[in-house]
Amino acid sequence: MTNRTQPKLATTKEAGLIEMQQVVKTFSNAAGEFTALRGIDLTLNRGEFVAIIGKSGSGKSTLLNMLTGIDHPTTGKVIVEGVDVYAMSESKRSLWRGRNLGIVFQFFQLLPMLNLLENVMLPMDYVGMYDVDERPKRAMELLRMVGLEEHAQKLPRAVSTGQQQSAAIARALSTDAPIIVADEPTGNLDSRSANHIIDLFAELSERGKTIVMVTHDASMTKRTSRTVVISDGELVNETIAQSLPLLSQPLMKALSNKVEKLSFHPGETIIHSKEPVENFFMIAKGNVDVVLHKRRKDEVVIAQLSVNDFFGEMELLRGGKSVANVRAAEDTPVELLALSRDDFNWLLKESPLTEKAIGHIVQKRLGEQKQADRRKRRRLFG
Ligand code: ADP
Ligand code: MG
Repeated sequence: MTNRTQPKLATTKEAGLIEMQQVVKTFSNAAGEFTALRGIDLTLNRGEFVAIIGKSGSGKSTLLNMLTGIDHPTTGKVIVEGVDVYAMSESKRSLWRGRNLGIVFQFFQLLPMLNLLENVMLPMDYVGMYDVDERPKRAMELLRMVGLEEHAQKLPRAVSTGQQQSAAIARALSTDAPIIVADEPTGNLDSRSANHIIDLFAELSERGKTIVMVTHDASMTKRTSRTVVISDGELVNETIAQSLPLLSQPLMKALSNKVEKLSFHPGETIIHSKEPVENFFMIAKGNVDVVLHKRRKDEVVIAQLSVNDFFGEMELLRGGKSVANVRAAEDTPVELLALSRDDFNWLLKESPLTEKAIGHIVQKRLGEQKQADRRKRRRLFG
């Protein structure tokens, strides 16, 4: 990426950079009505590299079209950097989009009669960015960056599908927009080129750009800073998706409707030792200490858990009372998602893979507890 052109960054705001509020999208056609998005609430922050994943037909592209102002929500609001996207006139929105968003479309949308270099220059021409004689140079640098400099003069149909996709990515970067929105941007690339593009996106997000990338390749989410799962037009609770990744997406969605949200102050006790435990807890925010012995002077912290860890499973599975005292760490408040015993049992029945994974964790934690116990006994009596 050229360093002559640093990304233009707007001033930081308290609210999220992109906010979708109760966005519903219903398509009507001869066959009837179909609701593709069912009340999406989503806040994305500056500099995040977000993966949106979900099965084919789950509403990923429709969701992106709402973010970019390309299609209208049926109801709900989309606010980007404080601007209500759908309160603008069509022509204003189009210019706003050109200045603020770089878009990689699922089917590229390269203009067939323009060569790759001209395609990459087009957004700069449209929003009048960079001197006229600087544009070809900049476009060429972008093509070089995606490995296409030798093909700059070719028409889209004269290059491979993967190369067209790379050209579409170069075009999305041409106006140095603060937000990049990409629909399956690596879907047609070999793994080397795909990795190169992901590296590029990661680098751009480190420099402050916000990247929203739709993908059906779950392995891509290893590289992103955040993953949002959509299932049948609804977002899955992110804590559930991260804590229990082996669940199917419909199960994640079902679970999203069963959990209860709980908040704790720093240092507040969540589970007292020797009390029965009736919930499975997932950590949505903050840190949790698992402590043996209540008296401060001889307590032993046997585990420190953080976001996307869970607890309570040992007691639920082994029918016992809590051996430890579980409390919010002193540094920050804690938010938990709680699942009742019945719903936890239902979940394990529905997802044998999750049951197995949780079983492994219980074994590991039992081992850790025994060790801590032994250490403590040595300290007291040894
Ligand atoms: P994804 O990108 O996750 O594969 P889409 O957002 O493209 O899914 O589509 C979500 C659902 O909405 C699909 O069932 C699709 O058939 C339907 N859909 C998308 N666009 C239209 C449209 N213009 N008219 C009617 N139905 C549509
Ligand atoms: Mg799609």
